[in-house]
Formats: sequence, C-alpha cells, structure tokens
Amino acid sequence: MSTVNGGISFWYAQDGAPDPREPLPGDTTADVCIVGGGYTGLWTAYYLKKAVPFLNITVLEAKFCGYGASGRNGGWLYNGIAGRDRYAKLHGHEAAVRLQQAMNATVTEVLDVCETEKIEADQHRGGVLEVALSPAQLARLKDFHAVEIAFGETDREMYGARETSARIRVTGAVGSSWTPHGARLHPVKLVKGLAAAVEALGVTIHESTPVTEIKPKHAVTPYGTVRAPYVLRCTEGFTASLAGQRRTWLPMNSSMIATEPLTDAQWESIGWDGRETLGDMAHAYMYAQRTADGRIALGGRGVPYRFGSKTDNDGRTQPATIEALREILVRFFPQLAGVRVDHAWSGVLGVPRDWCATVTLDRSTGLGWAGGYVGSGVATANLAARTLRDLIQQDSGQSGPTDLTALPWVNHKVRKWEPEPLRWLGVQTMYAAFRGADRREATGHTATTDRVAVLANRLSGR
Ligand SMILES: Cc1cc2nc3c(=O)[nH]c(=O)nc-3n(C[C@H](O)[C@H](O)[C@H](O)COP(=O)(O)OP(=O)(O)OC[C@H]3O[C@@H](n4cnc5c(N)ncnc54)[C@H](O)[C@@H]3O)c2cc1C
Repeated sequence: MSTVNGGISFWYAQDGAPDPREPLPGDTTADVCIVGGGYTGLWTAYYLKKAVPFLNITVLEAKFCGYGASGRNGGWLYNGIAGRDRYAKLHGHEAAVRLQQAMNATVTEVLDVCETEKIEADQHRGGVLEVALSPAQLARLKDFHAVEIAFGETDREMYGARETSARIRVTGAVGSSWTPHGARLHPVKLVKGLAAAVEALGVTIHESTPVTEIKPKHAVTPYGTVRAPYVLRCTEGFTASLAGQRRTWLPMNSSMIATEPLTDAQWESIGWDGRETLGDMAHAYMYAQRTADGRIALGGRGVPYRFGSKTDNDGRTQPATIEALREILVRFFPQLAGVRVDHAWSGVLGVPRDWCATVTLDRSTGLGWAGGYVGSGVATANLAARTLRDLIQQDSGQSGPTDLTALPWVNHKVRKWEPEPLRWLGVQTMYAAFRGADRREATGHTATTDRVAVLANRLSGR
C-alpha cells in the first residue's frame, strides 16, 4: 500500500471527511457570531453558551468544523504558550507566571470537559518528553528546563541518557525534560465531539459558509450577512484570506506522517509505554505521538510558507517533506527503517510578527479574535475561549474583570508582517538557517547553540 498524501489528514482516514452541516440560508441576526469552526471558535461557543444559555450564537465555518489545524494537528494537548517569555519582559515575571499557571490548568480543563461531555478522543495524560540529541541540544534543554521551573513548573523532571531510554529508546538521546502538563489525543475526535456538544447546547453551526468580510457587527458571506453585536474571528492560519488581514498572521505550514501500526516487537524495542508526547530541541523541531491504534504520528516544518500567504486545500505534502520526516523517524528509531508510511498531510497555523499568541476584544467595535498560537494551539485555544467569554461578559455588563481578563496576553497589540517578497524571503531564510544550524549541531561536539540560529531567531523576532 502506498502513502495516502493529503485527504485533509490521517485523523480523517478512518471515517472520511464529514458531510457539512447546512450553509447559512440568508441574512440573520445573532448575539454572538463566531467565524471559524476549529477549537478556538467551538470552545468559545461552548463556554459562552454554558455561561449564558439564552445567548443566540451562530458559528460560520468555510468548509466543515475541524477542516483547519484543529483537524490536522499532532494531538499534543500541552501547556506551552507562544510568547510567554516576551510577556514576562513586557509585563513582569509574575504576570507571565500567572499565564503559565493558567496554561497548566488548561490541560486539566480540556480533559475534564471531555469527561463531562463524554468526548472520547483517545486522550491519555502521559506528559510531554522533550529529548536532546546533541551537546548543543542538551545545553538548550538544560536552559529550557531551568526556565520552565522558574515559571513555576516545579513538577518538571530532567533525565539523563539512561533514564530517557527507560521511557522511550530514542537513538542518540543524551537527555530529556519531562512535564506532567501534557496529554496525547486524537485531534479530530476532539473537534467532532466538541462540535456535537456545542450543537446540543443550542448553538447554530453553518458549514460550507465562507465569510468574505468581517466588519463591526457584521459577518458577510455569499449567502447572506449575520448581524451581531459581537463578531469573533477564530480563523488562525487562514486569517490572511480575510479582507484587510493579509499581513496579520503568517500562515505557517506544518507537515506530518503516520506510520502503519507497529508490531508488538517493534513497540517492545522502543518502549514508550507512558504514551508521552515526544519532541526534540532542534531549531526546526519535530513532534510525535504514539497513537491509540499503535502508530507513530510525527511532524515537523516541511515547506514553511507559501508566497503570498497562500494555504493548501486538502493537506497535500511535497514528497521531499515526506522523505525528510521519514528520515527523522528512522534517525530516532533505526529499527523502523522498513516501516510503511501510511499517510502524509500538512496544515497551517498562525504566526504573529512577534510570535506571541493573543486574545482580544475591541470594546469599541465588538470585534474579537484569538490565535497566533504558533503551533501550540490545542490547549491555548481553550484558554483563549474562556477568556473571550469573560471579555464579552465584562463588556456586556454581566460581570467584572476576572483572573483570565487580567492575563498579559489579553488585548496585546502587534505590528503586521512585511509585504511580499520580504515576508517570503524572511521565512525561507530563517528556516534555511535553522536547518543548517541543526545539521552543524548534529555533527559537532560543542555545547554552544549555532550562531546562525541565534541570529535567525533574533532577526525573525522569534
Ligand atoms: C500539522 C499541524 C500540527 C500541529 N500540532 C499541534 C500540536 O500537536 N499541539 C498544539 O498545541 N498545536 C498544534 N498545532 C496547532 C494547532 O492545531 C492550532 O493552533 C489550533 O488547532 C488552532 O485552532 P483554531 O480553531 O484557532 O484554528 P483552525 O483549527 O485552523 O480553525 C480555523 C477554522 O476557520 C475556518 N475558516 C477559515 N477562514 C474562514 C472564513 N473566511 N470563513 C469561515 N470560516 C473560515 C477554517 O476552515 C477552519 O476550520 C498544529 C498545527 C498543524 C497545522
């Protein structure tokens, strides 16, 4: 059997893409209109409706719920949030510690709601294991570990080579850092379960309904306009396709492969009994999970960005990217050299110019948005949604400020990306620099991070 390329993602392979719900039938009104049916939009609908059951909420989704990154991701539900260290510089260490604590609690919150709503998403709380494969990666890992502890993660553990291989036998791993604040899940089972839960609460979802323009109190579609005091943009990596948003968040590609199910003997040779999500400390880092049906799903950057902020359709992935991801798999686990890759796919995530996730409600217009999660959106979308709920309740006079509305990522402003061709050139150069740095670090014996990568990070604002 050859590799299925695209088809949205492996997570749809079993049941296929869903039949879309009915599109918007014409002009209508709502109390809150949510644009985008991924985790951000659906969690926001969920928490708003739970808080104020009489609210009339409409979700408008261009294709079907889970068509975007929420139906394509690596299934790492974990406590990372893009921009925390910058928020510490802007708002002080204590504010960033509160943000981190909120993220730690978010992992538990998502798992708790899955239990309450009976969402079976293959969730398994095994934590996150990040491994180092070279002296330079190990030095970065130690720094990373110390920083995370300084942000309050006292339950994080550092392992040497032997303890690492007792968890997962990654060839060449010289150390690892493990946090309990993470779980593996099946992204599509989560998004489908969430959409069903939201609908059961009485939220209206229209699919096959692309919004062409968002303006105060209006979401415009080819089939009609939804008028609402609050219109929330929850389109993350697709934001550039909306009128006036081309340079807001850069659509960054991430690509994945899923192997055939491994044999018991292969699993025995690897370990991974704890089902931790697995990552490394490379500049162009990889991420992986052991799936519930016994495969390895592994991702990395691939072709980072398409000229003009274009996004793909069905997740089709370049053969060179598939091969590069397979090489990582075999470098980590050489005994899997002959293993079949059943599926390959790609998706887009949103990257703001300063690489900081944000959640915003503009009280003068009623326009809100959340995103720019830079590849850490599975949990962050949930925190963003609860924060949007609180911001709307505050704005409509139903409650005052809350712990969530006081977090430092709320209403953060960031400048736009450069126009083309600078945007394209900048991203290509940055990832070429990262890949070169990773190659040099892998073969070198120095514990210093490659200087080109340091420079690339600084220039890109990462
Ligand atoms: C390959 C890949 C792997 C990843 N792995 C991880 C991971 O393991 N852990 C992690 O934390 N994060 C990961 N991420 C990031 C994470 O998946 C995203 O940050 C998160 O899913 C974003 O959710 P969202 O709802 O904001 O956006 P999306 O899920 O992208 O949803 C946006 C929705 O809006 C719809 N839409 C777009 N434009 C319009 C329009 N004009 N009108 C109406 N609807 C529109 C889209 O069809 C889409 O359904 C990964 C991302 C990718 C691509």
